[in-house]
Amino acid sequence: MRSVQEKAALQGLLRPPFTVRAQVITPLSAGGTRHLPDALVEIDRAGKLARVEAWPADSPGLAEGGVVDLRPMVVLPGLVDLHAHLPQLPNAGLGAGLDLLTWLQRYIFPLERGFNADAARRLAPLVFRSLAAAGTTTALLYGAVFEDSLDASFAAAEEHGIRLVLGKVMMDRLRYDDSIGDKEVLDASLAQSQRLIERWHGRDGGRLRYAVTPRFAVSCTFEMLRESAALAAATGAYWQTHLAEDRHEIEEVARLFPDAIDYTDVYDKAGGLGPRTILAHCVHLSDREVARLAETQTRVAHCPASNFFLSSGAMPLARYLEAGIVVGLGSDVAAGPELSIFAGMRAGAYIQSGVHTMLRDERPRLKPLDWLRLGSYEGARVLGIEQEVGSLEAGKEADFILVDPSVTAPVGRGALDQATDDPSDIISRLMYRTRDEMIRGAWVRGRRLAT
Ligand SMILES: [Zn+2]
Repeated sequence: MRSVQEKAALQGLLRPPFTVRAQVITPLSAGGTRHLPDALVEIDRAGKLARVEAWPADSPGLAEGGVVDLRPMVVLPGLVDLHAHLPQLPNAGLGAGLDLLTWLQRYIFPLERGFNADAARRLAPLVFRSLAAAGTTTALLYGAVFEDSLDASFAAAEEHGIRLVLGKVMMDRLRYDDSIGDKEVLDASLAQSQRLIERWHGRDGGRLRYAVTPRFAVSCTFEMLRESAALAAATGAYWQTHLAEDRHEIEEVARLFPDAIDYTDVYDKAGGLGPRTILAHCVHLSDREVARLAETQTRVAHCPASNFFLSSGAMPLARYLEAGIVVGLGSDVAAGPELSIFAGMRAGAYIQSGVHTMLRDERPRLKPLDWLRLGSYEGARVLGIEQEVGSLEAGKEADFILVDPSVTAPVGRGALDQATDDPSDIISRLMYRTRDEMIRGAWVRGRRLAT
């Protein structure tokens, strides 16, 4: 019903408070999934979920008094994208089949070199709108190296309303910024990161946060890794970087850090591991490395579409979950071709099916509702904000999306379609038949985001 009626209905939902009637599917903090085919969702003035419950049988007053009826659409928790590069969106889909280091040099570094404050002012608002249009309400992103472009990007997020963690990329070798010398870059980069933390970390009641962001071990000296980890620890900011994405990269890290036991040990020795650290990819890890990540409660951002796009490999998700590592999903744009976390769930499910079949892995395979949990609640857990967002439960902040599953019907919208009321099948269709137009709105703290 993308009609005048729908437009009018959504007009009433720009800011809290409001109450809607719709179907609800959500993971629960205590485990499992809640499905309410006909639900009442009340968002209070503060942008929190006051009530999420079955539609009361005898409530004539409610039906008439200011409730917006969105049935048969579905309300889901907002999705969490744990890994993407803000300046890279214009390159999405280009350079398939190259290995990581070649792709970075050929496509990415030239793009990031041009990401100054002006470019950020133009691009960042569009990136946030695109994320919201894809159903993402929380994003953990990398910027480029320039401090003023980070300020411009944070300002755009403040205005847009998305929940954002962002960091200035730090690099003191294999880098693209010629305006500063090799000797000065470490101190300058730390000072810039420190100032950005002071300006943005925790802003708007914690909606905006900072992640200290050394790019990866190939681009950073040991001193930069160590000092950046110390800065994150001292300020309470996150620390994010890439780990074990592809074989060439791993060989290069072994050459650059001959004293480290393995790639994970490079970050470990630098003081980088811990529950406030998010490592992207982690495709190729030994049992020792997996155990060490679990032991330190280090978080993992799984970026399956990107891993296939750059032929990086297949991350063994079930193995990590069994080890107790907290894992969420990342689009990794632009190495991932699209921002949709539903598309990420699909890529992850295909990879997992392949891994299980090829390796005769007997571990349990994720089902559609498990993928929804990974893309929402577990994403929030990776960031340590699962008390606030990630599921639709009374008392939490109202970060949610509105989805029209009829858009994913295979034939059209007629009687020939095999309709479903089963929550697992609904999510299955959203994952495997993702369409841009199925996302009809995204809200953070009950405030509708521009898409
Ligand atoms: Zn990345």
